[in-house]
Amino acid sequence: MKPYLIILVIFIGTLFLCFKPVSNQIVISGQILKRAKGDAGWVENIMVFVKADTKVLAKTVTDENGRFKLTFIQAEHKPLDFFCNGVGIDTMLLASLKTFAGDTSNITFYLPAEPKKNNLGKVICLKCKRADKVYKIVYGDNPIVVRHINHSGDTTFSPLYKRTYQEDCSVQPAQYYCDRDKLKF
Ligand SMILES: [Zn+2]
Repeated sequence: MKPYLIILVIFIGTLFLCFKPVSNQIVISGQILKRAKGDAGWVENIMVFVKADTKVLAKTVTDENGRFKLTFIQAEHKPLDFFCNGVGIDTMLLASLKTFAGDTSNITFYLPAEPKKNNLGKVICLKCKRADKVYKIVYGDNPIVVRHINHSGDTTFSPLYKRTYQEDCSVQPAQYYCDRDKLKF
C-alpha cells in the first residue's frame, strides 16, 4: 500500500471514531437501605453521587425513604462508582459497577455495602476487588494516629495502625477502608 493511502485510511478511521454517536444516557431510580435493622433515619437526605475515575457524572439527594434518581451519560469502559455522604456519614463507596443493562435501572444500595470476601475469607475492596490494602475501621474516642517519616524527611500522620483504620467518631457506618483507592465502604 502506498504511504498516502495508509495516511488516508488512518484519517478516515479517525474521523469515524470522532463522530461515533455518544448518547449512552442512563437513568437510575434507586433506593438506599440501611443494612442493619433499626433506626433508618439516616438514609434520608444523603447525597448520592456517581463517578467515573475522578469525574462526578451526577449527584442528587435522597428523599425521606432513601430514594433517589440519577441521570447521566455513561463514560465508556469505565466502572461507575456510587458514593454517598451526609450527616454522620463520611464519603463512602456504595458500589462500583462495570456495566449497566438498559437505560433505566432500579437499584438498591445497602448502607454500608455487604462486605464480600475472597477465598481466604478476607474482605475485598468494592472497587479494586482485592484484600491486601483493606483495613477494618475501628471507631473510638481516642483514635490512634501513627506518625510516619518518609525518605525525604517529611512527616505524615496516618490512621492506619496494626491492620486497622482508626476513626474518632462512633456513629459512622463505613466498616472498611481501602488504602489503594483511598476510600471507605
Ligand atoms: Zn481498593
